Amino acid sequence: MSVLSVKDLHVSVETEQGTKQILNGVDLEIKQGEIHAIMGPNGSGKSTLAYTIAGHPKYHVEGGSITLDGAEVLDMSIDERARAGLFLAMQYPVEIPGVKVADFLRTAKTALAGEAPALRPWIKEVNESMKALRMDKTFSDRNVNEGFSGGEKKRHEILQLELLKPRFAILDETDSGLDVDALKIVSEGVNRAQEATGLGLLLITHYTRILRYIKPDFVHVFVDGRVAEEGGPELADRLENEGYDRFLTDTSVA
Ligand code: ADP
Ligand code: MG
Ligand code: MG
Repeated sequence: MSVLSVKDLHVSVETEQGTKQILNGVDLEIKQGEIHAIMGPNGSGKSTLAYTIAGHPKYHVEGGSITLDGAEVLDMSIDERARAGLFLAMQYPVEIPGVKVADFLRTAKTALAGEAPALRPWIKEVNESMKALRMDKTFSDRNVNEGFSGGEKKRHEILQLELLKPRFAILDETDSGLDVDALKIVSEGVNRAQEATGLGLLLITHYTRILRYIKPDFVHVFVDGRVAEEGGPELADRLENEGYDRFLTDTSVA
């Protein structure tokens, strides 16, 4: 069984004011098939963790490791991370003028699998996934992310998730900006992908709302760049009722 493991991860970024330390020793272990939620207040470093796993060049690893079945992810290029089975929802958020969704998906699948998927079954699979995500057929003829609404971007992410079948996926604030109907459709897509492939999921969210539709096995509360508390789904319920106040005991912050 595959394991994605983050050990004592320290990460900084360069800012105009100098080096800013963001992650201060993150420990996390996700087994294939498990759903982990990372919850925490704004600015606690959740996206930094996601970007670091994705290999974003702005984030400097000062110490610690990220391993996938023992192999050091930090030594891998972004492409190698994808081929190793990591899916990072923020990996393809850019507009790609002149590249249609259908071609993009097939190219991505080919790059990951090492060979092009057989055309007919592939088209069938794409159409079925698009239908399940209530995406219009014309969507596949549009240019990637060009003029996509917030909801369309999220659906496109989940479409990739369903078709590319990674071993681990990191979804950063997939719930933000979605109305309840879109949230349900997107969550159903995540659950389908999870059940179909035994995906390991790291679901990053500020709000508990999405956790009504995607049930986490483990909840980690992120504060000041590290995991401050861990528990089961009941911890999310508690956060829904109490907010993050009890974690923010640093009285220097009003
Ligand atoms: P979260 O996703 O939990 O809201 P982030 O990881 O986005 O937190 O940010 C954590 C802290 O690091 C914040 O104070 C943020 O301003 C800072 N930060 C993150 N990325 C950068 C960056 N590229 N340049 C400067 N500061 C950053
Ligand atoms: Mg934020
Ligand atoms: Mg964030």
